[in-house]
Amino acid sequence: MHALSTIADIRTAVAAARLAGQRIGCVPTMGALHAGHLSLIDEAHRRADFVIVTIFVNPSQFAPTEDLDQYPRPLEDDLSRCRHAGVQAVFVPEADALYPPQFETWVDLDHLPTILEGASRPGHFRGVATIVLKLFNIVQPDVACFGAKDYQQQTLIRRMCMDLNLPTEIAVCPIIRESDGLAMSSRNAYLSPEERTAALSISMVLHMAEELVDGGINDVREVESTMLAHLQATERVEPEYAVLRHPDTLRELTDVGSPMVALIAARVGKTRLIDNALLTPP
Ligand code: AMP
Repeated sequence: MHALSTIADIRTAVAAARLAGQRIGCVPTMGALHAGHLSLIDEAHRRADFVIVTIFVNPSQFAPTEDLDQYPRPLEDDLSRCRHAGVQAVFVPEADALYPPQFETWVDLDHLPTILEGASRPGHFRGVATIVLKLFNIVQPDVACFGAKDYQQQTLIRRMCMDLNLPTEIAVCPIIRESDGLAMSSRNAYLSPEERTAALSISMVLHMAEELVDGGINDVREVESTMLAHLQATERVEPEYAVLRHPDTLRELTDVGSPMVALIAARVGKTRLIDNALLTPP
């Protein structure tokens, strides 16, 4: 496995793989790899021959008040996980190489960055869209794998690829959970044992929404307010939103339609967690 930090080196490795007739797969990450990331790598192996994992804690998607400095960076462990997963190359660029001093070109979308995660984290999706397009331009993958865990992120990336006519195919992989239901996240490492228990309310409330919809409740507001009330009633949990939205556009719904996505963002202690579930009314 190659661990490469310069743009020139990763381009050379990709060019050699292409010359050998290989399909290029890319898995963009911020590192601190867990089973969720590994499932993306497995999917990339199913869809491509030469799999590149990018590890970059992208400063432009963090607001000044967020956890850029604390974000875990266990690089040796990450490289070893990639090696075991049969990854062909890991791209670990320096921030200066991607954002040189004169940098001034950004990718922004009209609507998606203004709602939900974007409303809570101004500038976040501009940073995400920009880094993903830059990584795609550097790696030029045939396919790139993203997790449904970051539902709005994958929605926005698919939209960007369509709008900008990018040839990269986007594969969206299911959320990998701990055995008790908590969605895996690099940020779970911030949780105290009590917070870890409280955080379970998020996946439980998503399950509850599923049951309400399965049970025939078709008033979107009723489901949303029940979700919110359960989260608010849980000690150590401060919900930011608990909503049902259209699964492609994330626009608001008037009635329970088919299908929908239930999305939650909540602070558990100081840690901000997100999770979601696709709901299909009977
Ligand atoms: P991150 O390193 O958190 O930026 O995530 C990199 C990629 O892994 C993104 O496409 C995430 O959606 C995906 N991912 C993170 N957690 C999970 C999970 N629990 N299950 C599936 N994919 C995940």
